[in-house]
Amino acid sequence: MSEPPKRRPGRLVLPLLALLLVLCGALILVGLAVQPRLAVAADQLLRLRAWFSDPAANPEWTVLGGQRCLPDAPMLMPTPGYIGFGWDDSFRPGHRHSGYDIFTPDGAVNVTPVIAAYDGYLTREPGWRSAVIIRHPDFPAIVPGAEIWTYYAHMASADGSESFIAPQFPAGTRELFVPAGTLLGYQGNWSGNAANPTGIHLHFSIVRSTPGGGYADETDIVNTYDPGPFLGVTRNAAGVLVCAGAITP
Ligand SMILES: [Zn+2]
Repeated sequence: MSEPPKRRPGRLVLPLLALLLVLCGALILVGLAVQPRLAVAADQLLRLRAWFSDPAANPEWTVLGGQRCLPDAPMLMPTPGYIGFGWDDSFRPGHRHSGYDIFTPDGAVNVTPVIAAYDGYLTREPGWRSAVIIRHPDFPAIVPGAEIWTYYAHMASADGSESFIAPQFPAGTRELFVPAGTLLGYQGNWSGNAANPTGIHLHFSIVRSTPGGGYADETDIVNTYDPGPFLGVTRNAAGVLVCAGAITP
């Protein structure tokens, strides 16, 4: 019987080294991709802290409820405040925000009005304590032929016990026509988890329809549109989302 050939450990070193190098390279690439987004998120958090400590100190960050930011912007600004997080912003690696978070200038819940951004048909599902959704049959200029929805959330107290939605829209409301500018309720900070309130703001998103004619899951960004063109909002030189009409050329 012949002896089995001896393995030479040295032959494994080179492939292992190569694998290590590839892994390191991949990690560096992922880091480079994620890092600028995290830097932006850190800037946004700092600005948000400044906003909450004194909203009046930064009037150029403020949008006005009911304002039409550009003459040809189809939708009205649904609430006043500071657009602290925009569409496709990231709160953590891998996360993509599906709408606008507009933070109150008023410092308290149940004070800052939320209005319908456009004429449409309002639904509040039976289990919804803080949100309504409005169907808009067509948007020829921006999404030709498409039925879209606007979604308004966080209109309840931090512990979820008190809804700030206007009383004419009780849970279970379906397809009730509301003109643009209709009062829907007031900003709150219910996140769905009483231990983790959101900070007082409106989450506003523009949601795609499903093939069956319902609304798609707005928590996934692929089911939403960037609200910027609908509202006439753009980023200023500092990266703050503001009314495009308020930027001086
Ligand atoms: Zn949000």
